[in-house]
Amino acid sequence: MSLDDNELPQTEDEWRVRLTPEEFHVLREAGTERPWTGEYVDTKTQGVYHCRACGLELFSSDTKFDSNCGWPSFDDAIPGRVKEIEDRSLGMARTEIRCARCNSHLGHVFHGEGFTPKDTRHCVNSVSIKLEPR
Ligand SMILES: [Zn+2]
Repeated sequence: MSLDDNELPQTEDEWRVRLTPEEFHVLREAGTERPWTGEYVDTKTQGVYHCRACGLELFSSDTKFDSNCGWPSFDDAIPGRVKEIEDRSLGMARTEIRCARCNSHLGHVFHGEGFTPKDTRHCVNSVSIKLEPR
């Protein structure tokens, strides 16, 4: 289900025709879905979450935990698959996370909240990811 490198869209117009309007808004315009509305908020199904845009494997269900924040939360990403970018929008210093392959927006990462031993929360929009059940 992963796109080959030569199939990756090169322009935002090419992404726009591949994605639904909501997917495009979140993945390519760094939008945020409303809390508690995403399809994976409470999902416990075992499997691997792929980038909704390009299909790259990003998160294992083994790292998903209940954060009660309204978005799917993972305390780790598959190594090298998620890149972090400083985000100073909304008057806050946050760290945006994007797919390392297609540069699509996933959500934000937070540290020091104490949810899990890894002390990290990748707060991800459901619409940015696709679960492939194990
Ligand atoms: Zn991607």
